[in-house]
Amino acid sequence: MLVELVKLNINGREVEAPAGSTILQAAELAGIEIPRLCYDKELSPLGACRLCVVEVKGNRLLPASCVTPISAGMVVDTESPAVAEARKTILELLIANHPLDCMTCDKLGDCKLADYCYKYGVKDSAFAGEKHDYAIDDSNPFIIRDLNKCILCGACVRACEELTGADNLSYLNRGFHRKATTAGDVDYIDSDNCVFCGQCVAVCPTGALTEKTLAGKARRWDIDRVRTTCPFCGTGCNFDLAVKEGKIIGVLSNPDAPVNQRMLCVKGRFGWDYIYNEKRLTSPLIKKNGKFETASWDEAYDLIATKFKEIKDKYGSESFAALSSARCTNEENFLVGKFTRAVMGTNNVDHCART
Ligand code: SF4
Ligand code: SF4
Ligand code: SF4
Repeated sequence: MLVELVKLNINGREVEAPAGSTILQAAELAGIEIPRLCYDKELSPLGACRLCVVEVKGNRLLPASCVTPISAGMVVDTESPAVAEARKTILELLIANHPLDCMTCDKLGDCKLADYCYKYGVKDSAFAGEKHDYAIDDSNPFIIRDLNKCILCGACVRACEELTGADNLSYLNRGFHRKATTAGDVDYIDSDNCVFCGQCVAVCPTGALTEKTLAGKARRWDIDRVRTTCPFCGTGCNFDLAVKEGKIIGVLSNPDAPVNQRMLCVKGRFGWDYIYNEKRLTSPLIKKNGKFETASWDEAYDLIATKFKEIKDKYGSESFAALSSARCTNEENFLVGKFTRAVMGTNNVDHCART
């Protein structure tokens, strides 16, 4: 299918983007980053935070680039003095009732609000007034919710509805008392629809929603991110392990993951702690005289090979069958098939995720 391209000028550069794109999308295609808090490429555009305003020649207003479509010949400036001044005011409005406790906030280093305040030199607000004093929702094992830090960008509401389909979050009240919260404004643990997938946490640009597993464990810049594949099922979601000093302290989703982008289920995002469970087997056990005894890997492999050979010699290849698992990698599953057919001489091989 032929895509119609529209030519426009952004920051003095001639650029092209598919017809129907927004200014923000066209800028992104051209490698020009426009600040944004509520916009997320995985979610429907909302135009709520207004931080992505730009100057468009011939337009007296500063339109929000995430919801303004491009047109042929449009001339856009994403960083003009008027735009910078407007963004500064918008940030001051956003932090007017914010606790600004960045020094102890777990999100610092991964907080877009703090990053943009730094970029535009916003230290405090000219609109200081009443602040919220919401109780922190610490009711569940996975997510800490501090709505005092919420900027009402609506990303959590859209992620819960559009990505997870759980529809657990919505808006409550108006004006200063407006909240992005659960039905009945109950804690997450008492909400009817929460499946604890953590998508809301992954998209939240501030410290309003944070992973409990990471709280108090590390500053974000002290965390190494190691890309891996989830071992829990055959979907093959990718995410980053958050690693500090060689130890896994949590999971962070990665927007570049080919299968799932930032979507994960509760097991993938929060179920990794079995790795350090002291009951986990770390060496083979061989039953001797009715009791399991710790053995070396060589000893275990020798025993397996001997037993397999005995079974094949005595009862024939068809007496053997292998059942593999979706929790194994593709390579491991391939090896099970290869071993069963080439070594044991049978096609009796199956996989738990086949049916
Ligand atoms: S949410 Fe961001 S701006 Fe607010 S206290 Fe935390 S780091 Fe600072
Ligand atoms: S954890 Fe998942 S289901 Fe629960 S509120 Fe967040 S996005 Fe919705
Ligand atoms: S909790 Fe986070 S994602 Fe949800 S509206 Fe507030 S700032 Fe946005």
